[in-house]
Amino acid sequence: MAKTADKCSFCGREKRETKILIAGLNAHICESCIEQAQAILQEELSSEKQKEIPDFNIMKPVEIKKHLDQFVIGQDEAKRVIAVAVYNHYKRINHAKDVAADDVDIEKSNIVVVGETGTGKTLLARTIARMLNVPFCIADATALTEAGYVGEDVESILSRLLQVADYNIAAAERGIIFIDEIDKIARKGDNPSITRDVSGEGVQQALLKMLEGSIVNVPPQGGRKHPEQKMIQVNTQNILFITGGAFDGIDKKIANRLQTNKIGYKNDRKHETVDKDNILQYITPVDLKAFGLIPELVGRLPIVTFMHTLDKKTLRRILTEPKNSLIRQYTKLFEIDNIKLTFEDDALDFIVDKSIEFKLGARGLRSILEGIMIDAMFELPSKSGVKALNVTAGFVEEKFRKTSMAHLRVA
Ligand code: ADP
Repeated sequence: MAKTADKCSFCGREKRETKILIAGLNAHICESCIEQAQAILQEELSSEKQKEIPDFNIMKPVEIKKHLDQFVIGQDEAKRVIAVAVYNHYKRINHAKDVAADDVDIEKSNIVVVGETGTGKTLLARTIARMLNVPFCIADATALTEAGYVGEDVESILSRLLQVADYNIAAAERGIIFIDEIDKIARKGDNPSITRDVSGEGVQQALLKMLEGSIVNVPPQGGRKHPEQKMIQVNTQNILFITGGAFDGIDKKIANRLQTNKIGYKNDRKHETVDKDNILQYITPVDLKAFGLIPELVGRLPIVTFMHTLDKKTLRRILTEPKNSLIRQYTKLFEIDNIKLTFEDDALDFIVDKSIEFKLGARGLRSILEGIMIDAMFELPSKSGVKALNVTAGFVEEKFRKTSMAHLRVA
């Protein structure tokens, strides 16, 4: 009995052939059998997980917009359009069977959001994903190249989504992908055939299939550095793609088109006035084509919306109103040290004015505030007597003068 027990009961190796032999009631197991068992266990558990379809909250468009309002200030047009697109998209997934029975095929509603950088495009997409409780990832279109060239393949976007979804394929297959800077892969110049455009039109072509909905072989770790790794098949049919870009100069194309149309429909449009300060509101897929997105890609991004440039009033609201506004964040940070932080209105106005003066937009608010608050954040935690800090315009001006930003020149 003692002799046979000194062997691994699974592979039969003798004790001296193993590093560790663990004894059970009537059996032994060696280290390599433990490792193998662990691998089997992991594989089984992850395939179980893949079968689970996670729940997600589906809200009506009005509720979606209300939710977005708590985090994103202004941008009502974009919010409405995106709320409807997201609602329809998830309705389409939830009722796939009924719809199929009716022979009605509801098409995917991928979205393009056109607007300057820092106007809240990513924030909108991120807020929606969090609200729906679905995996969400951001990809930068400028990093992508056509397969076989230096840079990232478009499939790497799906690898990232899989990672975020903790390799739960079913969850990833209902996720949201935000592709930023989609304008940077516009076709350069009018003639596509002169040189191969591997980071522009080539990427647009590569994105087509994924956006439309197809089964894509995805390397689990991303990239093509591990050719031996097993590919994971991901069906992109129910992945919602939200793309965004600044589309610098598209306003001129829109203005040109409006001008042309006006001539074409002279009588109908005679009394129509065009709001020249907010020309993006007239954006249509035609303008995206004129900008250099290939017609096939434009066709797969049927929902087009825009973001307003952030004006002073909106920036001022962004400081305090969102659920996790900057002012709330700083107040919380100080509260942890038992210091009651308050800001006077003039102080907030000053911050907004500086952000506008230096054309820093919403992102600038954070950098300016950080510069202003750094001394207080450094010193106050060690000063035991300080229980409150009221930030006045005078305080802000003095601190701002000390920051490197004060020496910026207005562009
Ligand atoms: P974009 O994707 O358009 O370049 P982001 O969504 O990354 O811009 O916005 C940058 C930051 O500015 C966000 O993290 C957010 O703090 C702030 N911000 C921008 N626009 C808004 C907005 N409309 N409401 C609230 N915060 C905003």
